[in-house]
Amino acid sequence: MAGIPPPNKNPEIKFTKIFINNQFVDSANGKTYPVINPYTTKKICDVQEGSKADIDKAVQACKLAFKRGTPWRRMDASRRGHLLYRLADLFERDIAHLSSLETLNTGKPYKNSYQDMVHSIQILRYFAGWADKNMGQNIPVDGDFFSVTKHEPVGICGLIIPWNYPMVMMTCKMAPALSCGNCVVIKPAEQTPLTALHCASLVKEAGFPPGVVNVVPGYGTTCGQSISSHQDINKVSFTGSTEVGKLVMQAAGSSNLKRCSLELSGKCPLVVFPDTDLDFAVQQAHEAAFENMGQCRWSGARTYVHESIYEEFIKRSVELATRRKIGDPYELETEHGPQIDEEQYNKVIDYIKSAQEQGAKLKYGGNKHGDKGYYIEPTVFSEVSDNMKIVKEEIFGPVQLLMKFRDLDEVIDRCNQSDYGMAAAIFTNDVNRIMTFTNSVNTGTVWVNTYHYWFPQAPFGGYKTSGISREMGKYALREYTEVKSIIYRIPQKNS
Ligand code: NAD
Repeated sequence: MAGIPPPNKNPEIKFTKIFINNQFVDSANGKTYPVINPYTTKKICDVQEGSKADIDKAVQACKLAFKRGTPWRRMDASRRGHLLYRLADLFERDIAHLSSLETLNTGKPYKNSYQDMVHSIQILRYFAGWADKNMGQNIPVDGDFFSVTKHEPVGICGLIIPWNYPMVMMTCKMAPALSCGNCVVIKPAEQTPLTALHCASLVKEAGFPPGVVNVVPGYGTTCGQSISSHQDINKVSFTGSTEVGKLVMQAAGSSNLKRCSLELSGKCPLVVFPDTDLDFAVQQAHEAAFENMGQCRWSGARTYVHESIYEEFIKRSVELATRRKIGDPYELETEHGPQIDEEQYNKVIDYIKSAQEQGAKLKYGGNKHGDKGYYIEPTVFSEVSDNMKIVKEEIFGPVQLLMKFRDLDEVIDRCNQSDYGMAAAIFTNDVNRIMTFTNSVNTGTVWVNTYHYWFPQAPFGGYKTSGISREMGKYALREYTEVKSIIYRIPQKNS
């Protein structure tokens, strides 16, 4: 990647405390927990462990910041935008440090961490621009009345973040929430709090008033659950597994019926017809399966290849998997790092075993790589069938499943034969096939002759059990907005 600053393999850990009211503070119960480097499997540092009492404190800070008449409520919308632009500038200033920290904490290759920071900056700038443009309407009602809608912030938003893209996932929730004028309590994944805490320091430096942004690291069943069941949090935005997403929605419903955005698991189909550039399609399918060590909800986790090119596709896919550079995440040529933690490592290894037991053919990989870190080789299976566990469930690991299909109708049915509906892709040059496919698959995104591209301007989110909301784009604003209808009686209508 051109122009990428060199990593710092030993980034200083400046922030390990809970961030409330623009101050770094100890946890209410004095507990800390260890944060682990997935590359060395050694402890990086101890971080203050938030619990319900800390979430309560953060919510109290939000409440004060969100009161009528406070600097945040009185602030011009354009000024909120300026603060977000400034935060983006600070991300840019600290990009090498943030990328180095992200790699230390997640094990993802440094150049990918750097790309994540670039995306985060783009997201901040995109939503900064919306701050003074999220407006209501003037509605022509019957009679002598004047009717308008006003877009208001929902209030206090709890943002629960996963570990696979810590900064990007945090930014794509925080940026629209702040752009719309909300206050936020952010709970990073317990595994990956370090960049979120550095970002908290930048929030203060950018000039956000105290209490507007709070960051409380901690575990899901304590800290996360306190957010989803909190009586004074008005909205929860969650990214993670479908299993936990259901718990979050139940807690939101049984507490105060808080608004809920859910970005959940996926099992995305990628379909390759013979009338395409085969090398390009093989390379895209490879990236789709192995990006971020397969730890993406939009991974190309089910690759359907037309029977006429199936054997050749397997051969070329194995060649690419063989060449994928596994190694020290800080080395610029590294493409493949460790899985996030031991639990995920074991889970993926179990899926690989189950695939073999159920008769799939292991074409490459399938083992631990090296003797240090939670590394799993890029793994390629052929002769995979739809009823296997590895096809039905989200593996969240570097496992490519190659399946054979015969015609368009059949493959559309098989694509839709999933509880998930995150994204799908098709590689073909036939425009009618493309139109039928894009209009028939039940997914929130369809990629045509490409994969993985997403933009701050375009919405992203799932159908079915992959979620119930949209992030990015103008659509994200409505997730953080209440619509107020105001009706004035007037002396006389004048059209
Ligand atoms: P998870 O869903 O358990 O965790 C995601 C976030 O939710 C974390 O911040 C976690 O602390 C929090 N959380 C956990 N339990 C909670 C609860 N009861 N209430 C509120 N918040 C809670 O994901 P995980 O344990 O990190 O990974 C498990 C599986 O989830 C993975 O194997 C993968 O399949 C999936 N996953 C999906 C995504 C995604 O983006 N779709 C991201 C991470 C993990």
